[in-house]
Amino acid sequence: MNIYSMTIHDLEDYFLKMGEKKFKAIQVYDWLYKKRVHSFDEMSNIKKIVIDKLKEDFKINKPFILHVQKGKGVYKYLFELFDGQKVEAVVMKHDYGNSLCVSTEVGCNMGCAFCESGRLKKQRDLEVYEMVCQILQIEEDLKLKISRVVLMGIGEPFDNYDNVMKFIDIINSDYGLAIGSRHITVSTCGIVPKIREFTKEKRQVNLAISLHAPDDEIRNRIMKINKVYPIKDVMDAVRDYIKVTNRKVTFEYIMLKDVNDSDECALKLSHLLKGMLAYVNLIPYNETSHIEFKKTDKDKIMHFYDILKKNKINVTVRKEFGGEVSAACGQLRSNYEEGK
Ligand code: SAH
Repeated sequence: MNIYSMTIHDLEDYFLKMGEKKFKAIQVYDWLYKKRVHSFDEMSNIKKIVIDKLKEDFKINKPFILHVQKGKGVYKYLFELFDGQKVEAVVMKHDYGNSLCVSTEVGCNMGCAFCESGRLKKQRDLEVYEMVCQILQIEEDLKLKISRVVLMGIGEPFDNYDNVMKFIDIINSDYGLAIGSRHITVSTCGIVPKIREFTKEKRQVNLAISLHAPDDEIRNRIMKINKVYPIKDVMDAVRDYIKVTNRKVTFEYIMLKDVNDSDECALKLSHLLKGMLAYVNLIPYNETSHIEFKKTDKDKIMHFYDILKKNKINVTVRKEFGGEVSAACGQLRSNYEEGK
């Protein structure tokens, strides 16, 4: 077990079982997440016998940074995990703070036709510490604070549900990274039973749904998952989520040239979302050399935006980032593997 996989409650239980006071957990967290030590030996207010036990029970090493690509306001990191697998994370500098896009799995089985990550089938879930350490390593490398986290890197967060929830607990904890719930966004391609499970947790983190199409006909073509959980089921689950949590949901909509960017699509989308506590984030598609989809022209994106606005749908266009650093999900890993 790696120590960075332990929530504060896990650690409290661990110490209680050992016959120690549970506040030791807070002390350890302080060393890990505030003072940022690299070894148990540096935890100088903890007695030797406990340190020795910690050393016996936990690893404290972090996956290492294999490669960094720098662009305007964006840094893309490639990590090598202890079994040699590779995942990436992207830092984006905004005027309101630094956000980090975190990977949740090695590869992905959701099979979205436009997405680079899915070209590598899922190899395994990421362990909790492998997600936590993406943040720690990058903060240390760039000497900055990550203030927002989006789970939009490689993988489907709701396909690695339990680990992702623990990850959120750790980064959200005041003793841990203290990143506010409302600064954390989980993005899913629409795994309905997990949206329902997530609803029950009543967490204050943001939920984003990768919709990308206004009807099943188009969505089936670009997102395999729609054949299992069609739009109606996703929308029902999201409506229930909103009812229970009263939180606004984001619908992500990648603009793919001649696939989902017609006026008719904009009207259908408006109809689908009418009256919902939601907004649409139109995403200029990040083209990749392996996949034939093209991005919608800027003018056409703005035209699509106007139609949604006219129909009283809250909508934003995502700022384009990282075209020059192969920032499309999964691109850095696959380019690296191919020696580019
Ligand atoms: N599996 C989750 C989270 C990872 S993908 C999900 O589907 O939501 C994060 C977002 O990036 C999704 O909306 C996904 O559809 C989108 N995406 C994937 N490839 C992209 C590309 N080349 N350009 C722009 N967005 C992309």
